[in-house]
Amino acid sequence: MEEELLRLQAEARAQLAALEDVGGLEAFRVQYLGRKGRFTSVMRQLGQASPEERPRLGKLANEIKQELEASFAEKEARLAAGADGAQGAFLDLSLPGRTRPFGTLHPVTQVMTEVCAIFEGLGFSVAEGPDVEVDFYNFEALNIPPHHPARAMHDTFYISDSLLLRTHTSPMQARIMEAQQPPLRMIAPGKVYRCDSDITHTPMFHQVEGFLVDRAVSFADLKGVLSVFIAKMFTPDTAIRFRPSFFPFTEPSAEVDIGCVICGGAGCRVCKQTGWLEILGAGMIDPEVFKKVGYDPEEFTGFAFGLGIERIAMLKYGITDIRLFYENDLRFLSQF
Ligand SMILES: [Zn+2]
Repeated sequence: MEEELLRLQAEARAQLAALEDVGGLEAFRVQYLGRKGRFTSVMRQLGQASPEERPRLGKLANEIKQELEASFAEKEARLAAGADGAQGAFLDLSLPGRTRPFGTLHPVTQVMTEVCAIFEGLGFSVAEGPDVEVDFYNFEALNIPPHHPARAMHDTFYISDSLLLRTHTSPMQARIMEAQQPPLRMIAPGKVYRCDSDITHTPMFHQVEGFLVDRAVSFADLKGVLSVFIAKMFTPDTAIRFRPSFFPFTEPSAEVDIGCVICGGAGCRVCKQTGWLEILGAGMIDPEVFKKVGYDPEEFTGFAFGLGIERIAMLKYGITDIRLFYENDLRFLSQF
């Protein structure tokens, strides 16, 4: 019987080793390990062995059976995984699925959405206009006639003598006022273009223009609206200051600074040790602009402001190079 057991072991080992496809596994199992298999029939002979031999033979039979079962299970797993080059007819349904990484919104899109949501909460409507603009709306209607020195500050991409890529979102002010009557509360988000590129400038960037026109609108209304915006965009205790400035289409004009969000006003590299960061330009709409669109400047007053989305995103997230937004590096983008 011992001989028979050892022969069975050797044959089973060889057959299992030669097995190349999952289809042969079941046949092997039936032939050797099944209830009517060869192993079982050899075991039946155990009763005929002498009582002295029985324990030794029983132990040997058990060892061989365990070995065969273990190598069978291993073979089964390897064939199922296709590791032997066999077609994997088995699927392991307990394996976790492959997850696909989700994309995220671009940080500029996120900030743009947030800015628009804040102004919409204050009753402003959103309007969008063309990126390719005519000279009239980009400059003339905003009190910047041909040869005005302010044009030189814009680094304009001209398409023809009268067509250009808009250098700011302010043309929407003129377009909307021309088409509608006050009261108006509008914001105009979008892309703008200037021939300029360094760590704080890209040839294309995003602005949000906002304006409000009605009877008896004052500078205090402007300050109120911008204070609410800044408190919501940054923190409620963010310091604000208005500095006198000049824009051709507003009078008086101001540049608006906030207390440095990086150092809290103590002075740092980002705020150039001043404790303040410029975040937007604003002012009362110039009566000349009202005349251009047919409003009576004696009857209506209004304010306008414009802010750069990348600038706000940089301050909000502590980003020091604007070009990172447009390099499409997923290691950067996936952090937002
Ligand atoms: Zn600072």
